[in-house]
Amino acid sequence: MSARTIALTDALYDYLLDVSLREPDVARELREVTASHPHAAMQISPEQGQFMGMLVRLIGARRCIEVGTFTGYSTLCVAASLPADGTVVACDVSAEFTDVARPFWRLAGVEDKIDLRIAPALETLDQLLGAGGAGEYDFMFIDADKTNYRHYYERGLNLLRPGGLIAIDNVLWGGSVINAEKRDQDTNAIRSLNRFLHDDQRVDLSLLPLGDGLSLARKRR
Ligand code: CA
Repeated sequence: MSARTIALTDALYDYLLDVSLREPDVARELREVTASHPHAAMQISPEQGQFMGMLVRLIGARRCIEVGTFTGYSTLCVAASLPADGTVVACDVSAEFTDVARPFWRLAGVEDKIDLRIAPALETLDQLLGAGGAGEYDFMFIDADKTNYRHYYERGLNLLRPGGLIAIDNVLWGGSVINAEKRDQDTNAIRSLNRFLHDDQRVDLSLLPLGDGLSLARKRR
C-alpha cells in the first residue's frame, strides 16, 4: 500500500503485461522487427500503445496527428482504435523508417486511415493550420525531436478542438530531467516544457510514469 506510484520490478512489469496486454499479432511482429533496428529505443512500449488506443476511444477521436512516426507502431495502435472514417496525419522526416511501417499498416487493415507526410513536422502542422485545420483535430501524439517539442505543442493546441488531447512522450527522459549534470539541449528542452506545462492554464494536465514518462494535456474550453 502506498500513497505514491509503485516502482515496477522486472517481474511485476512482466505480470502487468501478462494480465493486461492485448496486442494483435501484427503489432507484435512490427515491434519485434523494430527491436533489431539501431534506433529501437525510440519505439514506445506495448502497454503505452494500448493505453493510447484507449485514450483515442475514450475521447471519441476521429482526427489525429502524430509527430514522430518512426516505424509506425504508435500509429498502428492509434489508427486501429479509430472508427472507419478516422484518420491519422503521421509526420516524420524519414522514409527509411516509415517504409518499415507500411506493410504492417496494410496487414492490420489501417493503411487507409494513415496520411503519412514525409517532411519536417512543423511544415506539415503549418500546412494543416493553413488549410483551415484549427480546432478540427481530437488527438495529437508528440514523440519527435525534443528541441521542437514546445513548437509542436503550440501548433497542436491550435489544431485541437476544446476537449482534445495532446500526449507528449519521453517527459522523464530516462531520469535525466533530475540529473544536474545533464545540460544538453534535448534534456533542457524537456525540462523547460515540463515547467511550462505545469503553469499552462489553457490545458488540464497529468504526467504519467508510463514508458519514459507521458504527459497528457487536455485543451480547455
Ligand atoms: Ca519516444
